[in-house]
Amino acid sequence: VLSPAASPALESLRADLLGALGQSAVLVRPEDKAGFLTDWSGDWTGDAVAVARPGSVREVRACVDICRRHGIAVVPQGGNTGLVGGAFPPASGKAMVVVSLSRLDAVRRADAANATLDLDAGCTLQKAKDAADAIGLQFPLALGAQGSCQVGGNAATNAGGVNVLRFGMARDLILGLEAVLPDGSLWSSMRGLRKDNRGYDLKQLFIGSEGTLGIVTGLCLKLHPKPATVETAYVGVGSVEDAMAISALARAELSELVTAFEIIGTECLPLARLVDADLASPVSPTFPVHVLIELSCGRRLDGRALLEGFLADMLAQGLAGDAVVAQSQAQARRFWAIREGLVEGQARRGYHVRSDVSVRLGDVAAFVAAARAFAARDWPDWTPQVYGHAGDGNIHFNLLPPTGMPRHEAQAHGRRITEGLFAIVEAFRGSISAEHGIGRARTDAFWNGLGAVERKTMRAVKVALDPLALMNPGCLIPLAKESA
Ligand SMILES: Cc1cc2nc3c(=O)[nH]c(=O)nc-3n(C[C@H](O)[C@H](O)[C@H](O)COP(=O)(O)OP(=O)(O)OC[C@H]3O[C@@H](n4cnc5c(N)ncnc54)[C@H](O)[C@@H]3O)c2cc1C
Repeated sequence: VLSPAASPALESLRADLLGALGQSAVLVRPEDKAGFLTDWSGDWTGDAVAVARPGSVREVRACVDICRRHGIAVVPQGGNTGLVGGAFPPASGKAMVVVSLSRLDAVRRADAANATLDLDAGCTLQKAKDAADAIGLQFPLALGAQGSCQVGGNAATNAGGVNVLRFGMARDLILGLEAVLPDGSLWSSMRGLRKDNRGYDLKQLFIGSEGTLGIVTGLCLKLHPKPATVETAYVGVGSVEDAMAISALARAELSELVTAFEIIGTECLPLARLVDADLASPVSPTFPVHVLIELSCGRRLDGRALLEGFLADMLAQGLAGDAVVAQSQAQARRFWAIREGLVEGQARRGYHVRSDVSVRLGDVAAFVAAARAFAARDWPDWTPQVYGHAGDGNIHFNLLPPTGMPRHEAQAHGRRITEGLFAIVEAFRGSISAEHGIGRARTDAFWNGLGAVERKTMRAVKVALDPLALMNPGCLIPLAKESA
């Protein structure tokens, strides 16, 4: 075990990196590295021997080669918006190098005829969306961090977001992938093919691998037609059961046109107002659950009439108590600002228990009820905050500690609360990570929840591709379990 502090071996590694990448692309001073070693939420801080910022795929390979020769592990980093501590090494433990992809951000080829976009992995998601827009198409992956997160990070975490309902997760939106493997070789499947049944689909191994199998350097993204109409409604309902009934009916009656279905527990609204004090709820806050529905369609369909008709039925059936359809894009953005403000508002509030779980669609309401009952019984001073991409069965069941509780005390309780929540998720045969991944935050819970065959197979994949455990050790698979 080496510490990131100076030692001849680490000085020699740094010198090799500097020689390969140049002075400005290798950060070694604490003040220069700091921005790469703390995460968006402020929950995680770490340390690294150096932060390398390669500007080309050739330089990424050079970084991996140098680190391998020196026996030092590599942590790939995208936009550093992941919420589970995967994108930089912990402050104590093995010395590692962070390889940041932020300078690898060229759009390589926008192909309108093939409806694909080839680009470097370090492009932000927003840049990818803008490049798709520029050729009259859309890249539908959408999430609150899209201005900062990178498409390489989206691939590495198999990101989800608000449009999964219609377009799937990152896994469904990637047609080709290029990666530098731990042995320094470059592998690519960037052919832009929608159909390719030649053997194992290796790109899927890298998608969701959280930097543990290689560094993603390029992607071929699948684009979709740009909708002519996007309609957004904000609805007040009496319960999660009613919200899920509306979700099922929307799927059945509005065909494939629903692009987002979010629920917001009304108790979350004050958080959104921490970010924007002027945010007004479009429906009465006395409804315990608010729902955001988005419908998108081409110009031959009347999206507004479809959504209004559907909502009128929901009101008539008593499933919805009130509903407002946005009359302008600006109003729709205000609706979304409430949903997006919750995430930032929680971060501003400080440490809190954050979860990102999923259950079967028919179990969402029962899961939320069970989790609320657990919180009320065992942690009555903590405040649940329930929201999420419920149309996909994805719930963020978060809890805010009592005001004034010292952070270390809240974190200690938080670990026990998380265990309790995960036990409920397991009772529903759900997932403890719907879309954020495992990182370093959930390794034990993840590993302990696997069956023997799954463990053996996952370890076999890891060892086959990364026999020296050079790629992001301690992320995803617990350190002690990485070798065969
Ligand atoms: C406000 C906010 C809202 C969010 N909303 C959502 C949401 O709705 N849905 C969702 O899924 N997530 C969401 N997230 C989480 C996060 O944005 C995503 O997980 C995102 O995909 C991470 O991308 P990144 O580039 O920031 O990756 P990072 O945080 O830099 O890295 C995440 C993991 O991927 C690995 N990695 C990064 N780049 C590469 C690469 N090029 N090659 C190999 N491995 C790599 C890292 O080693 C790390 O393990 C949200 C985060 C925030 C802060």
